[in-house]
Amino acid sequence: MQVWKFGGTSVGKPERMHSIRTLITSTEGRKIVVLSALSGTTNALISMGESAKANNEAEATQKLDELKAHYDSFIQELYQTNEGLATGRKIVENEFSFIRSLIGIRPFTLKQEKELVAQGELLSTQMFQAYLAEQGENSVLFPALEFMRIDADGEPELEVIEKKLTAMLDQHPDKQLIITQGFICRNPRRQVDNLKRGGSDYTASLIGGAIRAEEIQIWTDIDGMHNNDPRIVKRTFPIRELTFEEAAELAYFGAKILHPSTITPAKMREVPVRLKNTMQPEAPGTLIANQSTDREIKAIAAKDNITAIYIHSTRMLNAYGFLRRVFEVFEKYKTPVDMITTSEVSVSVTIDNPENLAAITAELREFADLEEHDLEQSIICIVGNFSADKEGIALKVLDAMKHIPIRMISYGASEHNLSLLIHSKYKADALNVLNERLFYYEDAMKGIFTAP
Ligand code: ASP
Ligand code: MG
Repeated sequence: MQVWKFGGTSVGKPERMHSIRTLITSTEGRKIVVLSALSGTTNALISMGESAKANNEAEATQKLDELKAHYDSFIQELYQTNEGLATGRKIVENEFSFIRSLIGIRPFTLKQEKELVAQGELLSTQMFQAYLAEQGENSVLFPALEFMRIDADGEPELEVIEKKLTAMLDQHPDKQLIITQGFICRNPRRQVDNLKRGGSDYTASLIGGAIRAEEIQIWTDIDGMHNNDPRIVKRTFPIRELTFEEAAELAYFGAKILHPSTITPAKMREVPVRLKNTMQPEAPGTLIANQSTDREIKAIAAKDNITAIYIHSTRMLNAYGFLRRVFEVFEKYKTPVDMITTSEVSVSVTIDNPENLAAITAELREFADLEEHDLEQSIICIVGNFSADKEGIALKVLDAMKHIPIRMISYGASEHNLSLLIHSKYKADALNVLNERLFYYEDAMKGIFTAP
């Protein structure tokens, strides 16, 4: 069995839904199809919730009416028969009357907010499955709220998901296409919750891991993961193969195509993940698996809005326990540390969530001296398999960046990542010079590699 996931833009127009039907029925085999909400819907629901929270009834209702109008016209084109359209209307009417009742609840709390954002995926999947039924396809809708579980820390419970989903699959042995919602789940209090923005990829990977699928396919509208950010760098190309580790580093350090947690369940159960393009289904895309035969340096990514904190302690000289105390502070404020570099008496770290910055620095000052922290930093991350080509990598990278001030360097923690911290104003320059130097210049000189 395979798991195929389609994002918001892939379901964002009636004709896109039509092509998804063609795609999922053009190959043999049972599939679980995970859908996001139609593009724009999750944002619209969040904004509706903000109006409701601010007690602005009129504004919330106006936003609702606008969104509903979009769905009313969407279903006109989605369905091909009167019966189909009647079913579609019923779905939209039901959903929107529920949304109307939700935004009327006072006080409008986090519980309502989460139920509200869940309606996007509930709409898209019901509409799509009704369309498949109209077209005579052998399909069934599995409510993700019946099997997708997170624990009290927001972590998915893979065993629970596996048990519930396997039982549901066993009840429908004849169904070839199983449609379900991305993003949404239930928490331990059985309330509706979600896997955070962009979480549909994560859903697909959790399902694929849970049922030990043959393959997980993430369908978007670009031809796989690129070697660099195409919005900033002109010459980029899709990467054919990546290992799980490389893909995880890239997703975490800024490649927008994948939700950063996506790789974990797939890697745990060794299920390959393929990134595919709905607009160009014949293109090979990117295959993420245990091994990759591709070139050594795979990609460059950048992560913005990084804060660097510089910690000094004279007592660190020959002392132990200092790093533990430092990290305890970050742990207390549930703030992950991205990069770390150390010297004999200093340690520098970066964080991407500055929410508790003031409290963190205040506590660090109780036992260490702090230099003024730097905001607006970017981590530039070079990803690949460096075990094969160790000598050359750092030299090439630093040589390309010789005109750019570097605040931190991290290399050697894994064989897959070299990270540099620079001020964000140098980011575009850094991505471009690294692109030329690492992917084009040398290879062009040797004539051995021509990027597509
Ligand atoms: N609809 C959700 C979002 O916009 C989940 C997803 O699309 O992956 O974040
Ligand atoms: Mg996405």
